[in-house]
Amino acid sequence: MNRRFAGKVVLVTGGGSGIGRATAVAFAREGATVAVAGRSPEPLARTVELIGEAGGEGSAIPADVSRPEDVAGLVETAVDRHGGLHVAFNNAGVLAAGAIADIDEADWDRLLAINLTGVWLSMKHEISYMRAHGGGTIVNTASNLGAHMRLASLGAYAASKAAVSALTRTAAREYIDDGIRINAISPGPIDTTMSLQQGETEADRADRMKTVLPARRVGTLDEAAAAVLWLASAESSYTIGHDLVLDGGATA
Ligand code: NAD
Repeated sequence: MNRRFAGKVVLVTGGGSGIGRATAVAFAREGATVAVAGRSPEPLARTVELIGEAGGEGSAIPADVSRPEDVAGLVETAVDRHGGLHVAFNNAGVLAAGAIADIDEADWDRLLAINLTGVWLSMKHEISYMRAHGGGTIVNTASNLGAHMRLASLGAYAASKAAVSALTRTAAREYIDDGIRINAISPGPIDTTMSLQQGETEADRADRMKTVLPARRVGTLDEAAAAVLWLASAESSYTIGHDLVLDGGATA
């Protein structure tokens, strides 16, 4: 078994489900101690249980990434509890549909607050710690619907994720001399509830993928986690400010 993260402390936001949970468990399997953050304690507790079942260690830190005081406390708690912070996966996000003229102002603000401000706030505190403690690696979750392609009715989401790609590139240049390597993933449809359209079953989604994607299927959680672990590991040491698209060929 590869143990690329032995002795490392990893923070995963949005760790109570989907890509965040799968990635947290994958980090733990490779030797990391993993702090998982999200809004609700119960799903986070389940992720910590799964980390234990995978032979790893971790803890849950309830935090809303759109709240500055929560994010400051999150990084501080992870460091206090686990003795450092070497890797951060800023993955919490929400999706909301609506054509530009129909998006409600409150919905716009909320989406941007979580998807964009949440990533900025997370990086702000992670970078402050990492630059004073020998560096680290950061991976942000953008989306192929941001900087890479567009679908109708997802303007707010697409704008928030394109901004995550841009922020990632800027941060990568700003902090590489401090030993902090920053990259992003831009997934296409991955096997979580987020890739299900309203009222769609998993079987419906599988049929839809056969017609819209060169891969003819959704991406697996393992495929998403593998990309994150590679970007977070020393194996990608020459990769800086990259936005890794994993979308079954949607943007090919
Ligand atoms: P998911 O809904 O299972 O995961 C999102 C997680 O973020 C949830 O655990 C949720 O509780 C958490 N979260 C939401 N708002 C939060 C907040 N304010 N503070 C803290 N945590 C919060 O879906 P997922 O597919 O695993 O999504 C993970 C990331 O991947 C998201 O950023 C999403 O935009 C992105 N993404 C997903 C897909 C896909 O097809 N599944 C494609 C491209 C990008």
